[in-house]
Amino acid sequence: MIVILYHILTEQIVQEKYPSKLLHNVVRQFAQLPGIGERTALRLVLHLLRSGKENTLEFSSSIQEFIEGIRFCSVCYNISDTEVCPICSSGNRDRTLVCVVENVKDVMAIENTQQYKGLYHVLGGLISPMEGLGPNDLQIIPLIQRIKEDEVREVILALSATMEGDTTNYYLYRKLNEFPVKISMIARGVSFGDEIEYTNELTLGKSILNRTPFDGSHSGS
Ligand SMILES: [Zn+2]
Repeated sequence: MIVILYHILTEQIVQEKYPSKLLHNVVRQFAQLPGIGERTALRLVLHLLRSGKENTLEFSSSIQEFIEGIRFCSVCYNISDTEVCPICSSGNRDRTLVCVVENVKDVMAIENTQQYKGLYHVLGGLISPMEGLGPNDLQIIPLIQRIKEDEVREVILALSATMEGDTTNYYLYRKLNEFPVKISMIARGVSFGDEIEYTNELTLGKSILNRTPFDGSHSGS
């Protein structure tokens, strides 16, 4: 009874607050985005309304095209418009090097340094018991497959210096150690503890060049 009353009341508040259900629906969608409160969401939606029908339809259709057309590269699992991403299909990359990262933002950060000419492997997350993410939720089996089948000679672990990053590094080390590949890890310097995507480009570039062999004995601290 109380619950029903609550719903009736909140529905009334909502109707009073928003002159239009359509407006309220869009505001609700925007407010689901990280860092966007309802007030900001309303400001953005009203901005779209002011910017005209054509601009707003272009905005919404670009989201639709993105979500319908985007895929993951079948080799490295980076976000791609094509079956195999431009990095994996490029003839100018060192195919013996594979840099293991957590997500697409890390690939972008490392590419921005212009210091790395190898390939990538995007795990799609880190092992995190707290978030219920285990090795099977990540692209680890395809990584092992690449090491078995491709010409990979060195795997560079470029995961963040967090507990999850360290756990994942150690898990990968144990899995990859049985293959004849060199396992190294990006140097962690002044930016220790930072997510790698936030590390400045110069530091990140250097940390890839100054990578150290990973022997499984250091936990990153
Ligand atoms: Zn790729």
